[in-house]
Amino acid sequence: MQERLFTPGPTEVKAELLNELSRPQIHHRTEEFVQLYDSIQYYLKKLLFTENPVLLFTSSSTGAMEAAVTNGVKKRCLNLVNGAFGDRWHEIAVMNGVPCDKLEIEWDKAIRPEQVDEALATGKYDAVTLVFNDTSTGILNPLPEIAEVVRKYDDVLFFVDAVSAMGGVEIRVDEWGIDMCLAGLQKAFALPAGLAVASVSERLLARAREVEPRSYYFNLPLMYKYHLQSQTPATPPIPLMFALRKQLEEIVEVEGIENRFRRHQEMAAVVQEWALKYFDIYPEKGYWSPTITCVSNTRNISVADLNRELVNKYACRIASGYGKLKEQTFRIAHMGDLNLIDIRGLLAAIEDILGL
Ligand SMILES: *Cc1c(COP(=O)(O)O)cnc(C)c1O
Repeated sequence: MQERLFTPGPTEVKAELLNELSRPQIHHRTEEFVQLYDSIQYYLKKLLFTENPVLLFTSSSTGAMEAAVTNGVKKRCLNLVNGAFGDRWHEIAVMNGVPCDKLEIEWDKAIRPEQVDEALATGKYDAVTLVFNDTSTGILNPLPEIAEVVRKYDDVLFFVDAVSAMGGVEIRVDEWGIDMCLAGLQKAFALPAGLAVASVSERLLARAREVEPRSYYFNLPLMYKYHLQSQTPATPPIPLMFALRKQLEEIVEVEGIENRFRRHQEMAAVVQEWALKYFDIYPEKGYWSPTITCVSNTRNISVADLNRELVNKYACRIASGYGKLKEQTFRIAHMGDLNLIDIRGLLAAIEDILGL
């Protein structure tokens, strides 16, 4: 039986979107491609409430994270870390030789605007990275409040990893002043992996032109030059672009952006209530993610056994804890195109297996 994914990437992909992947191939230097590119632009700008261009990266989200710090840091970058993906962004900066520091707090706590303010007040930084929704811990960091602090510092660029939030949670790029807001397709967009998208501000492009280029493939000014002609510098994954166009039409025109965000909140509420009844929730209250719940394994069950039985008996898969939280937690994704029936069915299956 086909396995259903309740994992925080890759997520379940609807058959009608998979069908888009098998459309006849088009050439990427044609008018047809330009139209495909333009309609993706149109919808992504709506989804992100932005006038900024949204560039396409032929990579998973990690590639776009790398592009942010290799292009956008002249002086020094502050990496905010309260989970595995925040930590990854710091590692990326370090490996690329980008001057940076990490501000790390406990992984079950949200990052506070005051902590960011204090660090930026030193005047050491011209860029800051934040993971909006850290998928390893199920925390939604208070992005609007942190953005307000970052905006006080004129020369500090703000990069946001919205990988497991974009398409499931409201993000107001222009109002909040986000210079780069990025995500891959295999999370809340509910598409296969291989393409990442990122809005890019004029300030970031100006900075990138001043920085000694650190990358050819992820060179933002070069990508922008092609963007102006609705093109990409290298050959893009055209099948994924067909699927993305279709999914954006669904999100914006059929379901409606607000309805989609509300559906995610409703699914999250059901999982949170369940988790509190039988287990506990890993992050502090008030910052629980609308797209993923990280459940504390207070009953000391074997997460590996649970997942094996879920797969064998019910053809469903959840995720174990991430990295150092592997057996201490397990994670249920409620993102993408899943609905309340799917979620209630999964929880009933877990109850059956665990005899709850
Ligand atoms: C999945 C994920 C990433 C990495 O994504 P890839 O597409 O595997 O490169 C980065 N950040 C967050 C928050 C994620 O959930």
